Amino acid sequence: MSYDVIIGLEVHVQLQTQTKIFCGCSTAFNPDQPNVQTCPVCLGLPGALPVLNGKAFWLAVKTALALNCEIAPFTKWDRKQYFYPDLPKGYQISQYDLPFSHDGHVDVVTESGGERHVRILRAHLEEDAGKNLHDESGRGRDSQVDLNRAGTPLVEIVTEPDMRTAEEARRFLEELRLLLTYLEVSDCNMQEGSLRCDANVNLHVHQPDGGKVATPIVEVKNLNSFRFTEQAILHEVERQWEEFQRTGKTIKDAPKSTRGFDPGRGVTYPMREKEEAADYRYFPDPDLVPVTVTPADVARVRAEMCETPISRRQRFQTDYQLSAYDAAVLVDQGREVAEYFETVARAAGDGKQAANWITQDVLRELNDRQLTIATFPIPAPVLADLLGRVHRKELTLKSAREVFAALLESGEPANIEQIGQVIAEKGLAIVQDAGAIDAAIAQVIAANPKPVADFKSGKAQAAGALIGQVMKLVKGADPQGVRERLLEQLKSLP
Ligand SMILES: [Zn+2]
Repeated sequence: MSYDVIIGLEVHVQLQTQTKIFCGCSTAFNPDQPNVQTCPVCLGLPGALPVLNGKAFWLAVKTALALNCEIAPFTKWDRKQYFYPDLPKGYQISQYDLPFSHDGHVDVVTESGGERHVRILRAHLEEDAGKNLHDESGRGRDSQVDLNRAGTPLVEIVTEPDMRTAEEARRFLEELRLLLTYLEVSDCNMQEGSLRCDANVNLHVHQPDGGKVATPIVEVKNLNSFRFTEQAILHEVERQWEEFQRTGKTIKDAPKSTRGFDPGRGVTYPMREKEEAADYRYFPDPDLVPVTVTPADVARVRAEMCETPISRRQRFQTDYQLSAYDAAVLVDQGREVAEYFETVARAAGDGKQAANWITQDVLRELNDRQLTIATFPIPAPVLADLLGRVHRKELTLKSAREVFAALLESGEPANIEQIGQVIAEKGLAIVQDAGAIDAAIAQVIAANPKPVADFKSGKAQAAGALIGQVMKLVKGADPQGVRERLLEQLKSLP
């Protein structure tokens, strides 16, 4: 028997606003001073009235447009009722039957080069709850509640169950994070909970008669890293397969259940059910007016959007003749690296050379020195100038690497004048003076009768040592040019 793995994700993304979605309290990450970023609105005190944060709403629309969603012309707010210590109102303001967007898609490229079209069922807005801190000693002495997060704006992105492997789910999340950080709608900082996900997983088991039966759906809650999401799904697949073989239970025998993930042990475990969805008793929030979105609003938000990573990868391939691999490496580093590349490529007049340097030398140095591209001491115009010299054959690739290293070693932000200084100090300029090169070749030939004789007798590799000697005499000569002239002269010897 074989099976297909069926995965759908629900991703919560914190929008990058200064203030909460229905009040003016700060959204700053602040676990050290609990309950200081609160007011009567987000504490749900009687008589306090929520007011929608327009910035949060338009960021959400931008998010949905980037996910290729339809934007609803009319959207409203609903109360999702449940009682929990981190939810002082007793309900969460969310969206139920009329979310602000629906029916989008994201295309995900997998490591093997395959592509998965993941449909987006809906994206809706809601407020975050607070955080409960329980006594972990097991004595259950006290529990604490921090409401700093309560009311933080979230977009919940719900996919169709279109992913088939744990890797596809991880790649979907990586693409989503890249997209949302490009658009500056979220910082997607997973350590601070700005991006978290629930994974719905089950198996479709192939039957001998050609049919399929589905195992019960499990929702693994609150995954706060890409790696944990992948590990949790892998474990859940194994666990469900083992359980199906043992019990034969299908989706008809058991309702959807909720599990948590223990990263230490790499396993999922059953969670106590909070509520059944039917118990939420959604109803329209009477304190908030519905929102109408006109085609002009959508056009305005669309006009503010930058190029998405997907279209940038394609454009880098056509505009700069990059391989799909190089284009992806550059774009996937984030918007700043992609823009650094483009500045260098344009100014140096050589996209392929710029891509080689940035994907190899620059990324290696960023990694070794724990720098970001914003703090990298060689700004794009300086690298462009250096590569321009290589492109115009004023500098060899090897010398350019020496200059690059020297600029980095100075520890200060480099400028273009320094390139000239390093070239002069180290004598790296390519010597175009044919007379000087010919004189050096003649000197080397005269001083090395043995290798010369070897070459004449057919040992072509003997020329290598001679080239090296000429290069020592004429610092900065172009080795390719030296080689050509030396071979010419050797061949013309009697
Ligand atoms: Zn507040």
